[in-house]
Amino acid sequence: MISGANYIGSELSKKGDQQFKTFNPKLNLPTEWTFQEANEDEIKEAAKLAKEAFAVYLEFSGKRKAEFLRAIAEEIENLGEELIEVYTQESGLPAGRATGERGRTMGQLRAFATLLEEGSWVEATIDTAQPDRQPLPKVDLRMLLCPIGPIVVFGSSNFPLAFSTAGGDTASALAAGCPVIVKSHPMHAGTGEMVASAIIKAAKRTGMPNGVFSNLNSSGIEVGQQLVMHPAIKGVGFTGSIKGGTALYRLANERDEPIPVFAEMGSINPIVLLPSALTEKGDAWAKEYAGSIMLGAGQFCTNPGLILGIKSTSLDGFIATLGTEIGKMEPTCMLHPNIHSSYEKGKKELSAQATVDMVADYDTAVAPNVGQQRVLTVNGANFLKNTKLHQEVFGPFSVVVRCADAKELEAILAKLEGQLTGTILGNTNELIKYKSLVDALQNKVGRIIFNGVPTGVEVCSAMQHGGPFPAATDSRFTSVGTGAIRRWVRPVSFQNWPNELLPDALKNDNPLGLMRVVDGAHRNSKI
Ligand code: NAP
Repeated sequence: MISGANYIGSELSKKGDQQFKTFNPKLNLPTEWTFQEANEDEIKEAAKLAKEAFAVYLEFSGKRKAEFLRAIAEEIENLGEELIEVYTQESGLPAGRATGERGRTMGQLRAFATLLEEGSWVEATIDTAQPDRQPLPKVDLRMLLCPIGPIVVFGSSNFPLAFSTAGGDTASALAAGCPVIVKSHPMHAGTGEMVASAIIKAAKRTGMPNGVFSNLNSSGIEVGQQLVMHPAIKGVGFTGSIKGGTALYRLANERDEPIPVFAEMGSINPIVLLPSALTEKGDAWAKEYAGSIMLGAGQFCTNPGLILGIKSTSLDGFIATLGTEIGKMEPTCMLHPNIHSSYEKGKKELSAQATVDMVADYDTAVAPNVGQQRVLTVNGANFLKNTKLHQEVFGPFSVVVRCADAKELEAILAKLEGQLTGTILGNTNELIKYKSLVDALQNKVGRIIFNGVPTGVEVCSAMQHGGPFPAATDSRFTSVGTGAIRRWVRPVSFQNWPNELLPDALKNDNPLGLMRVVDGAHRNSKI
């Protein structure tokens, strides 16, 4: 089933001369599959097909695009257990996680299909003409959101399904009306090829233009760079490291025609322990946070990497319980030897800082590529001074900061870089009492959580998964949930356009039955 070839539109293609293999981190051995890296001709062909496909796909109704998305979900399901088997081999993640992620991937595709079927997401806005207005007549203006063109999606290493080939970036771009070229993640190229085959089957089944989707293999950065630089490409979706995301962002801005790069990157997701959380529920939170830090071997962008509290005996108790609980947990296999070695390097570097103390360190011998958990503690003044301690260590790792008082805690929040999430543990009265601290946290994050854990990102309309730089390159957008579609569209206004030639969403008789803003009021009626 896995050929190792690229999908250039609907054709399997192996023209390049570079090969690579994926790796089974549990066995610590390469997998049986060999992949052919895309060459320059294949990159150009995929981009040309995407450009041609855009002109056709653009004209398809929301209902037609929704059929395509629903067909992709069905075809992914039809891949059956073989997909789960390949996923687990290439990621070291358990089958339960694979099936959960597959469900989420299909759910995302279907959520975008529902959005398209309803149709109001295009934000149709109509300001009717006032020919008699004084001193000047007012023109008729009608605006809606239109797709920007072919998009390159970089699959992420830590979600081989939900943030990769048919993940949120691809689903949202296809929903918006943009063809997609995926730069497959080299750690799970086999999973990627299987999912790409499902997308191609769905595209054929529903009569989509050839080139609406391509999947390119590569084990180095060149293929991605060439794609980003190609003039046919109009936007980029990325999930991964700050280094990778910012490199692609810079590259895209060096083009003759700069294009948007929506990169979701690093985050340490600060947790603020207010006094009542420690005095009333300290042990319970410590147990819950041990689980959250360990989830998925800590390989989540929402992993709680920083826990802040005001020094007290109850904070000492929390730290002791966190250390005991996390020390009891079995560490698990990480995604790849490279991620494991960068985890070990980061962990070592932060542990070697002069002022930190060890809370928990799992040092029992483990199999290769297993990420042993570690928790450190440091006082607030030293954390403020040493920005190395603010870095993300991607894995089961966290730093607990003992702050002198609420003022110092607030100063730390003010100094932190942008984050995906921030969490407050406490009670409602404390949200009022510590308002300036809560505000300082809100200023830094895309999602602010009360009495919970940041891991677990719901896919829905109100989700914000993004945040101020470097959590993301553009804090105004989300990469999870149906709002992710807004990254791939731009507003276009039609002035004094003949009614019969307007897009259906803007016509007087509202043939799609959309909720529109007409002369400042929400209406789903005819004009
Ligand atoms: P990555 O190194 O950022 O790579 C992600 C993708 O971008 C890969 O396909 C990679 O291509 C490509 N890429 C990276 N740098 C590039 C550049 N300069 N030009 C063009 N393409 C580039 O992330 P990763 O491989 O997924 O994991 C490595 C580290 O990223 C982890 O240890 C972790 O720190 C971080 N990470 C963070 C998150 C998060 O959500 N915050 C998620 C996943 C990973 P090649 O692999 O082909 O070189």
